[in-house]
Order: sequence, then structure tokens, then C-alpha cells
Amino acid sequence: MSFKAAGFKHDAQFTRVRLSKGRNLKEHRSDFILCVYQARPDVDLTEWDIQQVRAVYKRDEWRLQFVCRTTIDPEPPGDEVAGVDLGICNFAAVSFGGESVLYPGGALKEDEYYLTKKRAETDDSASREAKRLDRKRTARRTHFLHTLSKAIVEGCVERDVGTLVVGDLGGIREDDENGEARNWGDHGNLDLHGWAFDRFATLLDYKAEAEGIDVELVSERDTSKSCSACGHMDDNQRVERGLYVCEECDTVANADVNGAENIRQKVLPSLATDGGDRDNGWLAQPGVRLFDRSEGSFAPREQVVNREP
Ligand SMILES: [Zn+2]
Repeated sequence: MSFKAAGFKHDAQFTRVRLSKGRNLKEHRSDFILCVYQARPDVDLTEWDIQQVRAVYKRDEWRLQFVCRTTIDPEPPGDEVAGVDLGICNFAAVSFGGESVLYPGGALKEDEYYLTKKRAETDDSASREAKRLDRKRTARRTHFLHTLSKAIVEGCVERDVGTLVVGDLGGIREDDENGEARNWGDHGNLDLHGWAFDRFATLLDYKAEAEGIDVELVSERDTSKSCSACGHMDDNQRVERGLYVCEECDTVANADVNGAENIRQKVLPSLATDGGDRDNGWLAQPGVRLFDRSEGSFAPREQVVNREP
């Protein structure tokens, strides 16, 4: 059974669709079926232009198929390059070169902590309540990652970015054998972060692609040890209170922004090492966007008041 544009009404926020059974003109009323659906976690239908909905009966259940229109290979917004550093405190730091934005992961971690605790309190780990909490946790994670990837891609479109460079954490995990790995243990839940980063990279890739933005993964090697202003590398560089301080050119940078800028520069023709003559104030003063639970979106820090998860 197919429903064309006039025959359905889609509500992405509540993941439901109203299928019209047609009008009864005599009685001046229309009849419809309200379907609440569950999409695969990596699919976000708010992004798509739905042309048609089909209801298919298969193996004792009804399945909905959404037929969407998409543009193949859209023109990129511009030639600019942005870099993304993924981390623990700041889930993502983005450098646009001359401007930087931080996306703290606090809301995600709070949800995770709260729901894990609640789940531990349930008597039976196979119970209905435990399953409900699991579903809720997955939904919260998924929503956070969708919203974050969308916010970053929108930021790229606004700033004419055609290439988005992402630091590949896979490289870091492989470093384990060389004893160079970051000490994840001190920072929290490796399971969450391994899961979240991989999922996030996938979401970012397909949302960027839809805007014509090319996503490149580069190794994160040395991106936290090098000064993004002068290129000086310091193996003993210590990050204190989230700041990177260069002993060579005295640049002070937010450590995650410094990492993001180094990642960005990996695909640029080498131009960075001009001795720190440029105005580098933006490295130390990133904009901060927090996840606003009540709105379900990221907003400048001043506008967000988050209550208990
Ligand atoms: Zn420097």
C-alpha cells in the first residue's frame, strides 16, 4: 500500500506518521491510521525529504518504507577547511582557523551516569524496567550524537567549509602496544567513548556528505603535543587547566582547540609556521555550545540552563 504526499503526514519529532485512509466526502470527515515507528539508530528521518510512504506486511508484522528524495553529490559550501578533535571533556572541539567552537560532552555523561545508576537499582536486570532504561539510554546517546553532528555540519555550511578533517581515534587505540595511548582509565567510560566516537564519525560523515562536504580522517598522532601557531613540538607538554602553553612562541591555546587546529592543518598546504605573528587570541577563546535538554539542541553557553537529566 503506497501513500503519496497528500496521503500522509510525518511527525519526525515523535517518530510517527499519519496515513490517510481517504476522505469520506458524504460525512465530511477523513479517516487515518496513526503509526508510531522505530527507525534504525543511525537513521534520522528529520534530514530527509520524504516523497512516499509504503506499508508492507511481512512476517506477521507491518513495516513502513519511506521513499526519500536526495541530491547526489551536492556542491560543497566553499573551499574552507575545518578540523575536529574528539575528546573526553569536550566531546568535540572544532577549529575553523581564526575561530573555534567547543562542544562539551557533559550532558551525555550525566545521562549515562544517571541511567546506569538507575539500572543498577532495578532488582532484576532482565526486567521490563531494566529494558526500558537501556532503551532510554540508547535513545539519549543517539539523540545527542545526531544533534551534535548536525550542529557541526551546520557550522561548516555557514562558514563555507568544503573539507572537514577529523582526528581518527582508531589510530590512538592502536598506539596501545607502543605504550603511547592516552590513559582512558582516568577519564571515564571507554565503552561509552569507543561506541560514541565510532557512531559519531559515521553520523558526521553522512550528514556532511549530504551538504557536499568531504570528511577526511587523519591520525591524531602528535596533534596534542605540537603548537598549532608555530609548529614547535614538545614531548613533555603538560596540559594544565585545559590550556596548551607553547614554550617557544608563548602562544596560549585551549588544548582541545590546539588539537583541532593541528588536525585542520594536516590537510592544508604548509603555511602555519610563521612564528606566531598572526593574532592567535581565538585559540584561547573558543565559543562554547552546550546541549540544551529542554530544546534538544546545542546553544551558546549563556542560554542553557540544564536541570537534572
Ligand atoms: Zn608555538
